[in-house]
Amino acid sequence: MAWLSLRDIAPAAAAVAGVLLGAAVGSMAGSQALGVLVGAAVFVGAVALRDALQAQRLLKWLRGSMEGRAPRTGGFWGEVAYRVERALRLREKALGDERERLRQFLSGIEASPNGVLLLDAQEHIEWCNAVAAQHFGLDPHRDLQQRVTNLIRAPAFVSCLQEGAFDEPVLLPGSAERGTLQVLIRPYGDGMKLVLSQDITERERAEAMRRDFVANVSHEIRTPLTVLAGFLETLAQLPLSEPERQRVLALMQQQTTRMHALVADLLTLAQLEGSPQPAGDRWVGVGSLLDAVRADALALSAGRHRIEFSDGADAEVAGNDRELLSALGNLLANAVRYTPEGGRITAAWRWRDDGGGVLEVADTGIGIAREHLPRITERFYRVEGSRSRETGGTGLGLAIVKHVAQRHGGEVQVDSEPGLGSTFRLLLPPGRVRRRAASNEPLAA
Ligand code: ADP
Repeated sequence: MAWLSLRDIAPAAAAVAGVLLGAAVGSMAGSQALGVLVGAAVFVGAVALRDALQAQRLLKWLRGSMEGRAPRTGGFWGEVAYRVERALRLREKALGDERERLRQFLSGIEASPNGVLLLDAQEHIEWCNAVAAQHFGLDPHRDLQQRVTNLIRAPAFVSCLQEGAFDEPVLLPGSAERGTLQVLIRPYGDGMKLVLSQDITERERAEAMRRDFVANVSHEIRTPLTVLAGFLETLAQLPLSEPERQRVLALMQQQTTRMHALVADLLTLAQLEGSPQPAGDRWVGVGSLLDAVRADALALSAGRHRIEFSDGADAEVAGNDRELLSALGNLLANAVRYTPEGGRITAAWRWRDDGGGVLEVADTGIGIAREHLPRITERFYRVEGSRSRETGGTGLGLAIVKHVAQRHGGEVQVDSEPGLGSTFRLLLPPGRVRRRAASNEPLAA
């Protein structure tokens, strides 16, 4: 408060100084009283002028951009200038902090996997993140302040906005440019709206696959169950001769076996999906694998085919022996089932140039037409007229083979010519195979 006392006494001190000086000059001029008056007025006027000049400088700074320092004049106006400048700097800093917080907040929303759109009370776009821009085909800069319904014209979205029905999400069907979107609108603040969008194409596809799978399983189980129920009714209601009874029982047994096979394959698939990837350091001899499936293939063929196995004794595969046996078993069972009597079936191991290996099952059977090949490993996909069901097929064998191959870092390849035969190859990458000299321990099939 030093300036206050100085300011209070400055005019008084100037007046006193003026009085004294005026008195001295006045007495010399012959009128002391006039000298006192003029002297006091001149000195007080000088103080007031200096004050006005300082105020003027401050006012000029305030009217301008207020950049740089305020005029440092000392005294009352100096104190005012200092206070104003300090308040200004504090406001600027608070504003800077706010801006930084807003920037961080927006970059947080920008990182969201969902689209975020902020609308003002008139439904103009205030802000949108890159995901929302991509979902709705917006330009995040050019389209700001545009009315949202001019840019997003999907009827479901527009009517949701107009009716204010924000409880349920809106579904926007996919198009050539984008997938299916689920859009949620949430009102906030004073009439403003938050629009959240999510691409649910993948989720919908998985959901459709799940529905198809459940429908297929239900159908596959219902068919043998209906047949069994029919036979049971026949047995209960009709007096059958012994040969007829034996025939019905055999057919019932066939259906039970079919259901059994289906459930076993479903369990295998569930296990494959639910267990961790096979270890990369548990080595299984390929010779042992081929030996273990040979007996089953011969039994299934019952001498109707010529079946040849290569020994594969110098190779080992890193992985799960049960899974590999299941894959090989499925390929061989298919070869037997889809190869007419007298045909030839071979199961072999081959090294590939890149250091990987191939387990190969080839037959001279009915073959598969080219148009079926892309879908052959889908669950429950069967080639019409292939007699899959009649030969006890579940439609899941190749799905299991594909799964096993993928879990071992490999893939399944098929070459086939209708009427000439098929070759199925289970390709394994170099990291999953190695050569070995010693003979393998036999594996239980
Ligand atoms: P399925 O239990 O019906 O054999 P898979 O998944 O093992 O089911 O095979 C799918 C379909 O692929 C079969 O229904 C059959 O039409 C065809 N297929 C599989 N292997 C062969 C093969 N070696 N020769 C001809 N067709 C085959």
